[in-house]
Amino acid sequence: MKKLYYLIISILLISCNNGIEKPRIGIAGIAIESSTFSPAKTTERDFNIRLSGEIFTSYSFFDQSYIEKADWFPTMRARALPGGVVTKEAYESMVIQIIEMTKQTLPLDGLFFDIHGAMNVEDMEDPEGDFIERIRKVVGPKTLISTSMDSHGNVSEVLAKHSDLITCYRMAPHEDAMESKQRALDNLIDRLQSGKGKPKYKAWIPVPILLPGEKTSTRVDPGKTLYSKVAPMTEKKGVIDAAIWVGYAWGDAPRNHAVVMTYGDNKKQVVESAEELARDFWNFRHDFEFVAPTTDIDDAFSKAFNYLKIREDKKPFIISDMGDNPTAGGAGDVTWTLDKILNMDEFKRSNSPELIYASIPGPDLIVNAFEAGVGNYVEGMAGAMVDNRYSPSLKIKGIVHSLKRGDRNAELEAVIKVNNVYVIVTYKRKPYHYISDFTNLELNPASSDLLVVKIGYLVPELYDIRGDWVMALTPGGVDQDLERLGYQNIKRPMYPLDKDMEDPDLSARLID
Ligand SMILES: [Zn+2]
Repeated sequence: MKKLYYLIISILLISCNNGIEKPRIGIAGIAIESSTFSPAKTTERDFNIRLSGEIFTSYSFFDQSYIEKADWFPTMRARALPGGVVTKEAYESMVIQIIEMTKQTLPLDGLFFDIHGAMNVEDMEDPEGDFIERIRKVVGPKTLISTSMDSHGNVSEVLAKHSDLITCYRMAPHEDAMESKQRALDNLIDRLQSGKGKPKYKAWIPVPILLPGEKTSTRVDPGKTLYSKVAPMTEKKGVIDAAIWVGYAWGDAPRNHAVVMTYGDNKKQVVESAEELARDFWNFRHDFEFVAPTTDIDDAFSKAFNYLKIREDKKPFIISDMGDNPTAGGAGDVTWTLDKILNMDEFKRSNSPELIYASIPGPDLIVNAFEAGVGNYVEGMAGAMVDNRYSPSLKIKGIVHSLKRGDRNAELEAVIKVNNVYVIVTYKRKPYHYISDFTNLELNPASSDLLVVKIGYLVPELYDIRGDWVMALTPGGVDQDLERLGYQNIKRPMYPLDKDMEDPDLSARLID
């Protein structure tokens, strides 16, 4: 009898709040950041595509408890290393596949839309806006779409309109990526199960600031203080989530600028929270500086040599070779910096400081290196097959130090020792972010004198081993000197390109 009583009560409760005990939730997305200023092109083959149940493995938090929370309809999630613009053909192919698969899953109560937000596609101004608009047409107006993004993504008004829930990372480097995706999914499940449905208010504020990620790390101020204000906003009763997008500086379209968004059920709280964050961002604008000393390559090396004279413990002096950073969208094969290194007198001696250079793609050289074998002399051409605007392909001659097959990105890797310079050569471009990326190649960056790596701000593992560090303003598809890029299509005025611009209108736009 008691059981029956509880059953009736729970049926009544469920029917009262119109919640869906087991909502039908789809998962789809395309994630890449791609630079308009790089000559490289990204094709469908460059994407790692996961289909249906495979997609769950992208989310480390997705355990049995999540499986039981909903009926899941994952379709396709495509993810690629940052690169040059995505071809129209690749974009259309992936979007059409996702749309066709989504049609088979209807009706959906919710959709977890997992994107990066800085995808540039040939001849398109707002690919993510186009993508979500087409998805919306398929799922219909009632489906709750929860969009999860990188803080370097762009939020156009179209993307904001079709995203019922939306959020992005709060840390750069993105140590909270998984936590952020989980929050986006938890909020979606909660709104569906509780029967509360779409949030009543969604505020969107474009902030006319365009900065490189290397000036907006949340490890240092003002990024640290600004982003520390986001989470407390969501503790207010009427605010569900809040987010600040720095935006992507290597895209040239009207949507490329910072954005603040908040959403929830209390109009006043939603509006005030968004406006406070936008105002803080604007007020901090003059304080964003590069997160490490930034200089030209010659000065970077003179600092490095001075450091080697005075340092006490043996830790590397790290130089970020920023302009061709493959994790921001550089082609990764610019030879400009490596050419300088190999031609410096300091590195032409056999007793020169030890330097590790990461990295340069060189399919020709690497094939020769595998043929020659470890310990043997090799020569071959490397670099500048995609981006040869600053320096041509290099002929590299040296001894094969190590060889490795099977890397997910590089496929083949070889280290060529030229005097005391260890050049990492890859078959395809690869970012070097982890100590194991080096130790797997018989290199020890922690004990090397110098480490030059195609990266912007250092990822945690490299940051922790640095003796000292400078960021070099080198040329490439993600040149950090934004003035050199020559924007044509972003909105103006834009800070800091228009340094003395007037204060913009930072009032919240409520988007339906
Ligand atoms: Zn990012």
